[in-house]
Amino acid sequence: MVRHIIPNNLNEALNFLNEGPFHIMAGGTDLMIQKRSTAGTPPKFAKDVLYIANLAELNYIKKDEAHRCIRIGAAAKLEDIYNHVDTPALLKDIIREIGSPGIRHSATLGGNIANASPAGDSLVALYLFDAEIVLLSVDGERIVPIKKFITGVRRIDLRSNELIKEIVIPIIPITAYKWYKVGGRRADSISKVSFAGVYLSNFGLVADIRFAFGSVSATVARSIELENSLKNRPIEQIIGDLPRILEEADKMISPIDDQRSNKIYRRKVAGNIMERFIKNIA
Ligand SMILES: Cc1cc2nc3c(=O)[nH]c(=O)nc-3n(C[C@H](O)[C@H](O)[C@H](O)COP(=O)(O)OP(=O)(O)OC[C@H]3O[C@@H](n4cnc5c(N)ncnc54)[C@H](O)[C@@H]3O)c2cc1C
Repeated sequence: MVRHIIPNNLNEALNFLNEGPFHIMAGGTDLMIQKRSTAGTPPKFAKDVLYIANLAELNYIKKDEAHRCIRIGAAAKLEDIYNHVDTPALLKDIIREIGSPGIRHSATLGGNIANASPAGDSLVALYLFDAEIVLLSVDGERIVPIKKFITGVRRIDLRSNELIKEIVIPIIPITAYKWYKVGGRRADSISKVSFAGVYLSNFGLVADIRFAFGSVSATVARSIELENSLKNRPIEQIIGDLPRILEEADKMISPIDDQRSNKIYRRKVAGNIMERFIKNIA
């Protein structure tokens, strides 16, 4: 029989984690589905479960002016992040389209990241902002950029005695952003293709531009090389470069067929979104 532990504080949680393998549970909106058994019976867990959603030390959203970033505790609820004044507008728009209100009141940002689903909607924004993941164990803290933390489909760089403590989102200047989520219906759907893009224009030049696709590769697809090739160029020149941009963007992704969609549709939609994003800059 597995144990279900509800620690009183973060230190207690870390000490439990250090003792043996646990499933960490925050909102449980992914974990309970993954471990479900037949209807009407409780989920089946192979390991003990450590419940962290109640830990006040992991539940905060704060602006760090000195380091020009937002710090979000791993157990902060998506709904609270959405309602917070300092949350970047792009992340707010994304959260508004995650699940339903009931899900967003339980689900956490830490859970969305640790679940490492190609369709995890917050991830495209976190990759664009070069977010960092702060990991904690009895041995101390480790800080890993998100693109290194997520190593594959449902694979993360997390040691057995660690948990995600905090997500650090740098504040960057942005002229405009765009978020597209293509799902089977308007609300409460899992992404078939997702996209987030931001840019900063400065006297007719594109000073910064970042874009990333979700649900069309094992992890979020972002090409720093393609982004760099567009920086410090006049907007009209970038529009003129659209055929090359679309060709390069197509190489960024490797969609698959699954129960939600097929790779031909995903590739076509990703291209259309990229084209719309670039044309919108003008
Ligand atoms: C009906 C429904 C609709 C959904 N719609 C969407 C959607 O539109 N977009 C989307 O992206 N997702 C969606 N999801 C998935 C899910 O709600 C999110 O991924 C959510 O953010 C997970 O957070 P959680 O706190 O519930 O994670 P949990 O289920 O508690 O945990 C998920 C995983 O993360 C690990 N984990 C959690 N917290 C930590 C931590 N602090 N440190 C280390 N590991 C941790 C757990 O061990 C587990 O492996 C949906 C789910 C449901 C059931």
